[in-house]
Amino acid sequence: MDHPENDSSYKGLQVNSGVTSQPITNPYRNARRARRPQLTASEYVEGILKGNVSILGQAVTLVESTAEHHQALAQEVIEKCLPYSGKSRRIGITGVPGAGKSTSIDVFGLHVIGKGGKLAVLAIDPSSERTQGSILGDKTRMEKLSQQPEAFIRPSPSAGSLGGVARKTRETIVLCEAAGYDNIFVETVGVGQSETAVHSMVDFFLLIQLAGTGDELQGIKRGIMEMADGIVINKADGDNIERANLAAAQFRNALMLFPPTPSKWRPEVITYSGYYELNIDKVWDMIDRYFEYAKQTGYFEKKRNEQAKYWMIETINEQLRNNFYRMPEIRALLEQKEMRVLNNEQSSFTAAQDVLNRYFQLLRN
Ligand code: GDP
Repeated sequence: MDHPENDSSYKGLQVNSGVTSQPITNPYRNARRARRPQLTASEYVEGILKGNVSILGQAVTLVESTAEHHQALAQEVIEKCLPYSGKSRRIGITGVPGAGKSTSIDVFGLHVIGKGGKLAVLAIDPSSERTQGSILGDKTRMEKLSQQPEAFIRPSPSAGSLGGVARKTRETIVLCEAAGYDNIFVETVGVGQSETAVHSMVDFFLLIQLAGTGDELQGIKRGIMEMADGIVINKADGDNIERANLAAAQFRNALMLFPPTPSKWRPEVITYSGYYELNIDKVWDMIDRYFEYAKQTGYFEKKRNEQAKYWMIETINEQLRNNFYRMPEIRALLEQKEMRVLNNEQSSFTAAQDVLNRYFQLLRN
C-alpha cells in the first residue's frame, strides 16, 4: 500500500522526453559495404600490378572465398597475373610453436627490406580457426615488420582441408609476386602434414630448431629434416650459446647420414638469435648462396616446373574429390554401403566399386 509508486506525486512512471539513444549497430556499416563496387578482373589486375595493397588484399580475400562466383573471378585474376609472377624467392619457414618463428620472421623480414626488397608473409595453418580479426593478431606477432610499407602480412586462409588451404596460399603467392613482392615467406607450424604442403610451393625450406628440446630426433623421424635446405638453431644467446652449438654439431652429424638432397645442395646448420638479432646476416648469406647455387645448376627451374605439375594434379584431385563427395546420391549410397561394410555384409572393395560404378553412371547421364 505504501509502495512509493502508489504515491500520486511519484514521477517514476511518467514519460519524460529524453535524449535519443545511439543505435547499437553501426548505421554506416551496410551503407559502406554497398558502396564498395565489385571490381572487374581487369581492375583487380591493374591494381595488383600497381602494387595497390588494398586491392591486393581484396583479391586475396576473393581467392579465399568459397562462393562459386568469387572463385570464377579469382581464377580469372590469377590467370591474368601469372605472366607477372614467378620472379620472387619463395622461402618456407617451419618450426614447432615457440621455436621463434614470429620473432625470426620479424627480423629476417627487416633484413630483406633493409636490402631493398619487398616481402609478403603468408601462412599455412589448416587447424586455425582464424577469422579476419586475427590479421591484427598476426600484426602484433610481427610487430616491427607490420609497420613497414614494404611488407604484406596475411594470416592463413581459415577453414577447409589442408589441400584446399595450401592451394589458396599457392594462388596468393602468384598475386603477391605480380604486386612486386620479390620475397615470399610461407610460414607453417611444424606439427603434422602442413610442412609437406609448404615444401611443395617454396624454393628454399628453412627449419627453425631449438637446442636441447629433443626436437632433433623428432625432426628426423618425421622426415622434416630431409626436406630442409637449411637448419637454423634459434635462441643462441646468453647461457644458451653452448647448448645451441652442441645441438648444431648433432644436427650436422645427423645430416651426414642422410642421402644427398635432390639438388645435391648440402643443407647447412647455423645458430642464431632472432630476439637479440645475432647471426641474422649469416642465415641470410646461406639463403643467398643457395639461390645462387640452385640457379646455376638449373635446379631452381626444375623444381618450379615440378611444383607447377604437382599443383595441376593436386587441383584436379581436389576437384574430382569434391565433385564426388558433394553429390547427394553418392553421399546417400556411401552411407548405406558403410552400414553394409560395418555389418560384414559386403567387403570394403566391392562396396567401393559399387559406389564408383554408380558415380560413373551418373556422370554419363
Ligand atoms: P613461434 O611460436 O614459433 O612464432 O615463436 P615466437 O616467435 O612467438 O617466440 C616464442 C618465445 O620465444 C617468445 O617468448 C620469444 O620472445 C622467445 N624467443 C624468440 N626468439 C628468441 C631468441 O632468439 N632468443 C630468446 N632468448 N628468446 C627468443
